[in-house]
Amino acid sequence: MVNTIFRVQSHKFTQENIQTTLVCSNCDEVFTKEFLLDLEGQTIEFKCPVCGNLGEADIPYKTAEEREEFEEDFDEVTEEDGVDEFEDDF
Ligand SMILES: [Zn+2]
Repeated sequence: MVNTIFRVQSHKFTQENIQTTLVCSNCDEVFTKEFLLDLEGQTIEFKCPVCGNLGEADIPYKTAEEREEFEEDFDEVTEEDGVDEFEDDF
């Protein structure tokens, strides 16, 4: 059973990978780790490089901003929920 959680303190997407800064819930140490871009949004199990405990981390998703930067035509989100036209009343 996995009982150690690696909390993502900060992360950054590059062209090649996802760079994360993680905190181990077991030893409280902060470390950095790189993940493949494919692992975006997934829960990954690995061993803490500091205390060696097996734990898991939730890899963050790219933000909309980061997404725009790298994949311009990826599933555009449109905001069109019934905007009423204003009528000019005299
Ligand atoms: Zn640890």
